[in-house]
Amino acid sequence: MTANKHPFKAEVNKILDLMIHSLYSHKEIFLRELISNASDAIDKARYQALTDKSLLEGGEDWKIELIPDKAAGTLTVRDNGIGMTRDEAVEALGTIAHSGTKEFMKLLESREVKDNPELIGQFGVGFYSAFMVADQVSVLTRKAGADAEHAVLWESNADGTYTLEDAEKPTKGTDVILKLKEDAKEYLEEWELRKIVKQYSDFIEYPVVMNVTRSTPDPEDKEKTVSETTEETFNSRKAIWLKDKAEITTEEYNEFYKHISHDFTDPARVIHYRAEGTTEFSALLYLPSKRPFDIFYQDYKIGPTLYVRRVQIMDHCEAMLPTYLRFVRGVVESSDLPLNVSREILQDNKTVTVIKKSLTKKILDTLAEMKKEDMEAYGAFYEQFGRILKEGIHHDFERRETIADLLLFESTKTEPGKKITLAEYVERMSSEQKEIYYITGPDRAAVESSPYLEVFKEKEIEVLIMTDDFDDIIISGLGVYKEKEFQSAIKGDLDLGDGKKEEKQKEFGDLLELMKAELKDLVAAVRVSGRLKDSAVCLVAGEHDLDPKMVKMFQAMGQ
Ligand code: ADP
Ligand code: MG
Repeated sequence: MTANKHPFKAEVNKILDLMIHSLYSHKEIFLRELISNASDAIDKARYQALTDKSLLEGGEDWKIELIPDKAAGTLTVRDNGIGMTRDEAVEALGTIAHSGTKEFMKLLESREVKDNPELIGQFGVGFYSAFMVADQVSVLTRKAGADAEHAVLWESNADGTYTLEDAEKPTKGTDVILKLKEDAKEYLEEWELRKIVKQYSDFIEYPVVMNVTRSTPDPEDKEKTVSETTEETFNSRKAIWLKDKAEITTEEYNEFYKHISHDFTDPARVIHYRAEGTTEFSALLYLPSKRPFDIFYQDYKIGPTLYVRRVQIMDHCEAMLPTYLRFVRGVVESSDLPLNVSREILQDNKTVTVIKKSLTKKILDTLAEMKKEDMEAYGAFYEQFGRILKEGIHHDFERRETIADLLLFESTKTEPGKKITLAEYVERMSSEQKEIYYITGPDRAAVESSPYLEVFKEKEIEVLIMTDDFDDIIISGLGVYKEKEFQSAIKGDLDLGDGKKEEKQKEFGDLLELMKAELKDLVAAVRVSGRLKDSAVCLVAGEHDLDPKMVKMFQAMGQ
């Protein structure tokens, strides 16, 4: 059958363009990505073979082979994993599986990505990194369980199209064959490949092997040498999360993080522990230092990778983390779960509930500790993830006070960009001040010019500045903090404690009545205000009314 040409989807071309023309450093990560895909493919075969032995095709000798061919100038990465059908190859190697394609394209063209091309590592586009080092990439693949004739050969030289042909492949799995560029020939050398595998893929569970030929002096004739070829394994294959903390270096922790997250930046914190008792499990979790681009997308995947007795069961177990901690990445391994668990079973499984509770507590404890020990690092973390963490106040009633302790806000008394905790605010309150004052708005500048703040400035009362669109909901969910109620600077009647208001209300009684009569369709009440200094009048919302910004938000939502 003749090869037929297919165009790549626009976003693939964009990615390829970035890969080829913008990424110059760390080209060697292509190997990490291909090995990671091979390992994923073996995970899948191994997992599916638990219920269908025929998929093993008679062998359980899982491995990933590196086959350099100096004469041909090619490097092949071979696995004996699940393989792909024709349709799967089209889907996996010709498109990018994202729900928000439009937003994704916008992001790809953004300054941020242009200036930091390494960010594309997060986009789950590992396969295409092969084109950083290869002019042509061929993928020969056959699905486990299919006949030898039902293989497919996918090929592309990144010119906007790829070809597909029927092919034959006696063994299951995938060969990715790279025709190396002139300046990438070092990836044919044993020592180079060994070094890269050691650095980036040491913890891969399956052996990454290569045939290595060594020459030794011939014992019979000293003038001659004999050469012997043996298969050597380059990686140590230790599941890092099962190892002892003391045995793991920071580099190893960071490398593993990059492997599971596709992030290029080191994580902010590592949480590694083993729980013993009625429920036993090991957890290795990471707090990233940068927000992934897709964290607000619908199809963002939540939760750690789940292993049961060394078998990877699912790559994201969402039942193990609350959504407000969805930035946390990692691995959990438990032998208390059955190997054939499904997502449905996990939803209300006792063991999973216990693990979720433990992980949640550990993460919140770690954040509290970080805040206490290194406010600068915590502030940087909060910049990236505070908005998400804050959702916990709304969703995790039980822990809302713990989470409230982790919140940071600017205030009318902080320098722009500097934030304080609620505890600090309360500590700074004068003895007369009864409530925690806050004001919401789109940004600090807008809030600071608000007439609502005049009286607070005059009386030197600190007001928290809240600029996230759902802060109002969060604050009303919280209600009180350290027995102090929250009071919006925009809403209701303020009593700032000088008691003169009542007097004035009487003094101007007639005038107020008149104004009320004139404005009766427009306002609910006219009052003497303690809140203004330079402005003559202002409109305030009632105590139980929505904030003006909320009203706008609801209007925008068509309600
Ligand atoms: P990701 O691994 O994040 O899904 P990649 O770009 O690395 O993204 O790979 C895209 C997809 O191609 C994979 O999800 C998988 O379906 C398929 N794929 C890539 N390499 C292999 C392989 N060696 N065996 C089977 N499928 C593969
Ligand atoms: Mg991948």
